[in-house]
Amino acid sequence: MKFRKRFFLQNKIKILLIFTIVIFVSIFLVKKNEKEDIQVIKNKKSDNSIKKVPPQKKLIKLETKIQKGDTIINVLERAGMERQTAYKLFFDIKPVYNLKKIRAGNKFILYKKDNKIKKIVYEVDPDSLLNIVKDKHGSFKGKLIIIPYVIKTDIIRGKIKDSLFESILELGEKPELADILASLYEYDIDFNRDIRKNDTFVVLVEKKHLNNKFIKYRHILAAEFINRGKSIKIIRYTNPEGKTAFFHPDGRAVKKMFLRCPLPFMRVTSRYGMRRHPVLGFSAKHNGVDFGAPVGTKIRSSATGYITKTGYNRIMGRYIMIRHPNKYISHYYHLNRIKRGIRSGIKVNQGETIGYVGNTGRSTGPHLHYGLQKNRRYIDPLRLKSPTKNPVKKCYLENFKQYSAKIFLLIYSNEIVNISEKLQKVFINYAKTKPYLKGL
Ligand SMILES: [Zn+2]
Repeated sequence: MKFRKRFFLQNKIKILLIFTIVIFVSIFLVKKNEKEDIQVIKNKKSDNSIKKVPPQKKLIKLETKIQKGDTIINVLERAGMERQTAYKLFFDIKPVYNLKKIRAGNKFILYKKDNKIKKIVYEVDPDSLLNIVKDKHGSFKGKLIIIPYVIKTDIIRGKIKDSLFESILELGEKPELADILASLYEYDIDFNRDIRKNDTFVVLVEKKHLNNKFIKYRHILAAEFINRGKSIKIIRYTNPEGKTAFFHPDGRAVKKMFLRCPLPFMRVTSRYGMRRHPVLGFSAKHNGVDFGAPVGTKIRSSATGYITKTGYNRIMGRYIMIRHPNKYISHYYHLNRIKRGIRSGIKVNQGETIGYVGNTGRSTGPHLHYGLQKNRRYIDPLRLKSPTKNPVKKCYLENFKQYSAKIFLLIYSNEIVNISEKLQKVFINYAKTKPYLKGL
């Protein structure tokens, strides 16, 4: 027993010794590790301090469009600049560019940092910008920059499947091209109603490129739209006097006194047009046409004229009436809202927004009631043979016709190339189905 006890005790001591050694070693290792960890953290911290960048306040880009009646002073004041500073900017920049010339619709871009205006960019015209910065001494410096666009001409052909908008997108083009085309053809084609499946179009368009990248469309030089078998050609022509406009091949102006529809070409709802939905139809008893459209859709003045009346009543809802030359009056009813600034006596241009579609007055759904009077008698706006605007001057007609013929020759000659390519593809596909033709 004694021996056993001793043996046991000896063992116990050994175990304790081993145990303590293990504990010491592990404590040492943990400490070492901790030290390493700390070192790592320290290293990381020092790394951070090297790379540390002072917290950057973001440069905020604010884009606004110059409104009708805006002056540079109120544009800058709206952007948060003090009136005095705005005047200083105007006079500092004057030797480079007279900001009195700012035009409604042009872009104005402000770069703000820490709530201070750092840089201003004004889009003088589609090809040039005015850059304004403040120097160390607090005066404004302006620089006019001409954007070095490269103009490339392209021929785009398409076929309508569903809508012009979708066909354009399917061709890999941008929606803007559909808008430009629709606005060019709106006097001849109602893109919400007339357009049909398998209608075709071809457009000769200029594209602006910068660093080999497409930026935006420039001018449409010519176009042909075949709507339900009827060809409608349009040519952009600059006469020897330098005046540019769009004409049909016989010299008639494309623009007419009245737009066919006061609502813009609607990208999405245009689809319904083929099913003839938006137009609920013309009826003699209600003296106009009803155009179904979502609440808030812009309403444009169908022709240039003067606002004679705006108001509200329980039948017409919110309404606008416009007097045009040649004793025409146009009516717009059931508006949700009249555009700010539109009131009696104001002149409006053709296509200018005057209000927004609504469902006010005696109306069963959002729509625009559009009425037209000639000599105080109601006429059908859809059957109106709208007076045309200035045709090509007689003395330039020959010149114009030659130009027009040349441009369409260019378009059609390119078509021949395309057709042969298509034929080749057809043959290759055909060959695939006939093994014995392989190797041809
Ligand atoms: Zn109506």
